[in-house]
Parts: sequence; C-alpha cells; structure tokens
Amino acid sequence: MTDFIREIIAEDLASGKHKLIVSRFPPEPNGYLHIGHAKSICLNFGVAAENNGRCHLRFDDTNPAAENVEYVDSIQEDVKWLGFDWGEHLYYASDYFDKLYGFAVELIRKGKAYVCTLGTDEFKEYRGVPKRPGKESPARNRPVEESLDLFERMKSGEFEDGAYVLRAKIDMASPNLHMRDPAIYRIKRATHHRTGDQWCIYPMYDFAHCLSDSLENITHSLCTLEFEVHRPLYDWILEALDVFPSRQIEFARLNLSYTVVSKRKLMQLVDGHHVNGWDDSRMPTVSGLRRRGYTPESIRNFCDRIGITKFDGLTDISLLEHCIREELNKTAPRVMAVLDPVKVVIDNYPEDQVEELDAINNPENESAGTRKIPFSKIIYIEREDFREEPHKKFYRLAPGREVRLRYAYFITCTDIDKDPSTGEVTEIHCTYDPETRGGDAPDGRKVRGTIHWVSDAGGADLEVRLCDRLFADERPDADGADFLENINPDSMKVLTCKAEPSLVNAGAGARYQFERKGYFFVDPVDSEPGRPRFNRIVSLRDSWSKIEKKGRTPKK
Ligand code: ATP
Ligand code: MG
Repeated sequence: MTDFIREIIAEDLASGKHKLIVSRFPPEPNGYLHIGHAKSICLNFGVAAENNGRCHLRFDDTNPAAENVEYVDSIQEDVKWLGFDWGEHLYYASDYFDKLYGFAVELIRKGKAYVCTLGTDEFKEYRGVPKRPGKESPARNRPVEESLDLFERMKSGEFEDGAYVLRAKIDMASPNLHMRDPAIYRIKRATHHRTGDQWCIYPMYDFAHCLSDSLENITHSLCTLEFEVHRPLYDWILEALDVFPSRQIEFARLNLSYTVVSKRKLMQLVDGHHVNGWDDSRMPTVSGLRRRGYTPESIRNFCDRIGITKFDGLTDISLLEHCIREELNKTAPRVMAVLDPVKVVIDNYPEDQVEELDAINNPENESAGTRKIPFSKIIYIEREDFREEPHKKFYRLAPGREVRLRYAYFITCTDIDKDPSTGEVTEIHCTYDPETRGGDAPDGRKVRGTIHWVSDAGGADLEVRLCDRLFADERPDADGADFLENINPDSMKVLTCKAEPSLVNAGAGARYQFERKGYFFVDPVDSEPGRPRFNRIVSLRDSWSKIEKKGRTPKK
C-alpha cells in the first residue's frame, strides 16, 4: 500500500536525492508506548525496510525530570515485540549533549542566539499572540561575547534554575510563535537517567530533536501533524548551522474511539489507580494490548489498514478488534467454556457413565485435528441459553424444546427447579436422545438451536476476565471533557467459568476461541501451572455496533 510519504520517498530515490533512506522512531522515554506510537513505528520501520534503508531507535531524552530507565526498557521491549529491529542503531539524544552544546555556542558566535534574563511569565508576555508582533527582549542585542560568557557560566552551574535561558534570535514578529526567539537551552538541576549530574543545562526538545535527526543523517523525519508548526524552526536551525538537512514530513496521528492515546492521560489512569498499571489489559498501550492477547501481526495489520494521511480523524476501535478476530478465527483452537453456568441434569443418562466425544479443534483449519471431550449426566450450559418463556426468535433451550449440544446429543427440556425466594433457575432437567450421538438425528429431524456446554466430569472452574472498552464514550477526551469521568464502570468483569478439561493445562500465552463467547488469552503474568487465567481479547462479534444499530447508542 502506498501513501503520500512513500511517494515522496520513491521520488527522492528516483531523482537521486538520496541513495539510502534513513528514518527513525524518536520516543521520549516518559511513559509506555501506545497504539498511536505503533502507527509511527510501523511507518518508520516500514518505509526503511521497503527501501532497504535503515530505521534508528532514538530516545529523545532531553527532559530528565519526566524520564527514566523503566520507560527506556519498556519501549525497547515493545518495539521488538511489534517485530522491528533497529540493529546497532540505538541512539540517545543525551549522547549528543556535548555536540548540542557546541551547536548552541556556534549559534551564539554567529549572532543567532543570545542569553536572555526574562523569566517564564515575562517570556510569554513579550512573545505575545500570533496576530500582533511580540516585543523584543532587552537582552536581544547583548554582545556575542557576553552571551558566550553567560552561556558557559550557565553550564558550569553558576546560576539558579530558570535564571537565564539561551534563545535563538529569529523573528519576534513572526505569526508563528515558535519562531519568536524560542528558548533552546535552559538551566535545570535534575539527575538524568544516563548522564547523571554531569549537566545542569539541558537543550529544549525542539533544538535537540532536529539536530539529533541531522546528526544521524535522517533523510525523512516523519512525525505527527502537531509538529508542522515546528518545522520552520527546525529548518531554520539546520540551515543556520549548515548541517545535514533532514526533511520533516508530518502525518495525522492515530486517534482511536473509546480510548485515549496520550501518554500524559494514560499516566493519569495509572497514577490514579483507575487501571492496574501500564500493562492493564484494558489499556491501549502496546504492553496492555500484549497482555490482553493481541498479536504483533494483528497490530501491524491494523496499522496497515488505517494508512497514512494528512487529515486528523477518529479511527473506530472495532477495526482493531476486527484485525485480531480475523487472525484468531484462522489460528485459535476452539474449545468450550461456559461463562455463566446453569446446571443441567440429563435424567435418562446413566448415573456413572462418562463418554468421550470427538470435537473439532478448528473447522477453519482441518490440520488442527480433533480432541476428546467428556460427556456425562450433569453438564453446564450458559444461563442465557435457556428461557422459561422464550420469545419468538429464541431458538435455544426452553421447556419442551429440543436443542443440539455441540458435538454431543439432542436434549429436550422436561422440567426446571427454581430458587423459591429469587425465582432464579437452579437446575434444568432434560432427557437426551441416545440416537443423536455426535449431533445428528438419524431420522433427519432438525433442531434450530445448537448450544455449547461443559460436563461436570473432568471440567474445571477457571477464572476469566471480561475486558471491555475502557471508556463508555466514543471520544472520552473530546472538547476538554474530563476523560476520567467517562471510564466504563463495566470495563472489567471477573468470572469463574466451567471449562472443558483441555483448558486446565492451557499454557501462558495460548489463545483460544471459546465457542460462541469470543477469543481468550492465557494471561502470562497471573496464570499458574494448572490454573490458567483467561483474558477475553475480543468477543466473537462486534456487540457494540449491534447495540448502536438497534438505536441503543451508548451515551454520547
Ligand atoms: P503523547 O502525545 O502520547 O504524549 P508523544 O508524541 O509525546 O506522545 P513521543 O514519545 O514524543 O510521544 O512520540 C514518539 C513518536 O510517536 C513521535 O514521532 C510522535 O509523532 C509519534 N506519535 C505519538 N503519538 C502518536 C499517535 N497517536 N499517532 C501516531 N504517531 C504518534
Ligand atoms: Mg512528544
């Protein structure tokens, strides 16, 4: 699939402007990666691979206060897990601190930067608003020698945090506020996760970012649209220093419905204990999706399908869900588990008999073979598969009604027991037809419903977590809404299900289709041998869109 960025790259190769394409993924290590980052990773590593180029992983680590090694490590793990490899090209902006300092000195020497004394508030006031020119700082025409001296003393720790900043000398009348003499270095006493206390001045993100690209000979510096207004500044810096002119191209960020994709907001969810950490299976982080049971293939496939454009939009989360469903439909073995069990007694079935019946592992994949499942007098079915008073379209079990038990027999409901105080059905009595073994009647009689079940013999009680969308609202953070207020209170339900025996020893990381119930993943963190815990990755169908079609739209 092509897009405007791939077209530009193809032209640059065809015209001979570049022989080797070099891209990079440049995270700030101040949080875990999310699905939006996955889009950028797939794009950057993708275009490099398609053109026999290379893609760097570079940490833009210029803000020591917010960064730490936990994030550095998790980011590397996530990029690798997504299936990408930076080879030996792992870089840190902090490795360039000496060079960046040198570039700053060079700008001062060229009369293109000056040390300024305005405090944060004054700085903003002088900068003004886009429609009116800003006011020049009194320090703007400070002699070069003086700025050089002050900058060096900033570095050697003579001044307090915030006492001075180094500013690029560009244009206080520019309609683009980023061009109104932006700060490029600040004094900040903070221990950096890599350089320790070696520095008390740090380059601003904009200064470090474009120069790091240039130092690495990045040919195409791909970033999201909000950086479009920074581009004139980047171009100005690279030109002023006469260094390799990395070309920045912006594309639309991924916004996904029913979730938030912003590290800052995800951090709020974690810090406020609204979720159980960055890798909570409801989080749109790469680690959360992994924990939930998404595969790298399904995420890459999703990123392919959404494509690369210049227009901001909202991608429907059901597309992501579709991608994993489509994959697991082909690959996941099918098993039976009853999530909300009600007991069924088959009155005419011999008391102590247990039969082994054949079940198909995956009808989509014959080579997956068959397995044996036990059948006995007591079984469990889903509570919702029985109705005492069925409506017209209800084809499952009801008094007097015959249905098929998947891979087993036809059964007919003869009686029910109820809890007299609640009216809840506690036991369903049935008879079975021994002639229908395997699920077919020799006399050709048909039943309309087929339901799944689990036998009391050999089955196990196992934990399942039904993860749903984290937010109840399609755009939880639209128009400055307090997204925390929009958390879906039912985003996680923990149940004990009745599971067929083959699931007892399900290994961590295995994926299954529970027939009629969805795709499940054996949680790799919380499962123990013989005690798997299952996360529901996704239901079998898009139940939300069904609700919306019926007009019962979740609240807007
Ligand atoms: P956030 O907005 O979540 O804090 P960020 O942009 O500050 O993210 P960075 O670590 O700077 O996070 O991001 C690294 C790269 O990922 C950047 O090039 C950025 O443009 C890209 N990126 C971030 N969010 C998205 C997104 N939602 N869609 C596509 N690319 C994204
Ligand atoms: Mg950023």
